[in-house]
Amino acid sequence: MELFLWIYFIVVSGIFGVVIGSFLNVVIYRLPAGRTVVKGHSMCMTCGHNLAAKDLIPIISWASLKGKCRYCGAPIASRYTKIESFTGVCFLIASVGVFKYASPAIVNPGYNFYTFFMLYFITYVLCISSAVSAMMIYYDTGKGFTGTAIWSGIFCLLAYTLPHLFMKTIDPSNTGINFVDLCKDLGFAVLRLAAVIVITFVLFMIFRKPYSKNDLCLDLSVCVIPLYGFYFMFANRWIEYGIFAAVYAVMRAFLKSGKYDKYAGIITVCTLQLLSSAHIIYMYIK
Ligand SMILES: [Zn+2]
Repeated sequence: MELFLWIYFIVVSGIFGVVIGSFLNVVIYRLPAGRTVVKGHSMCMTCGHNLAAKDLIPIISWASLKGKCRYCGAPIASRYTKIESFTGVCFLIASVGVFKYASPAIVNPGYNFYTFFMLYFITYVLCISSAVSAMMIYYDTGKGFTGTAIWSGIFCLLAYTLPHLFMKTIDPSNTGINFVDLCKDLGFAVLRLAAVIVITFVLFMIFRKPYSKNDLCLDLSVCVIPLYGFYFMFANRWIEYGIFAAVYAVMRAFLKSGKYDKYAGIITVCTLQLLSSAHIIYMYIK
């Protein structure tokens, strides 16, 4: 039963990621154009035909139509499907990190530790989504949106505070973490974030090109992700951040604009997340 719940949670997380990825395609396309993401029909880029619900099923529609528009037969870029799959994989890997703690919230919702981890997981994957859109927009337009950096920051702040406030509200005697500890934690988190940004900035200046506000927005959007403690727990938080900073900064500084540049941030995050999830599974087995 427990195993079934774990598998269910991981599979549903992956599907959830694919659906969010589909929404991110809209964000990535419309945000730089200054259009709203909540209203309006999706349409074929070639013939302008409004797309029906059956045309908008992530991955499946694209595959069943063999990558062509149902109405005019023009090829549809595989990129949309790639972003959907990629976001799905990110969510799936993230769910592996917390399946044991978050999945019981599905059958046992309410004020408990499981819901605590579920909240944590949700804010984490939202932060990933924000980073994916920031990265793709940066790649498409060379621009970094302050908006994506702010959203990433908000999701991260929520992850830090929401689960703890939640536990505090339901159980005032819960002394697991208090306000002072929370602020201290946050302070150190901001310091670690600043350290990564400075390292990236220095390497970028030496090996690549001037570091602009756009780069800063992208780096902020991506680098708040490792602030989620549960997902990176190899050793000391500073050591974890050091590893992240080294890998991320080197990738950003040396991958010249091109095929892989756009993926630098998320590849770094995913690689570390994979290692971390593998480590967590190893701990369970042991
Ligand atoms: Zn068409």
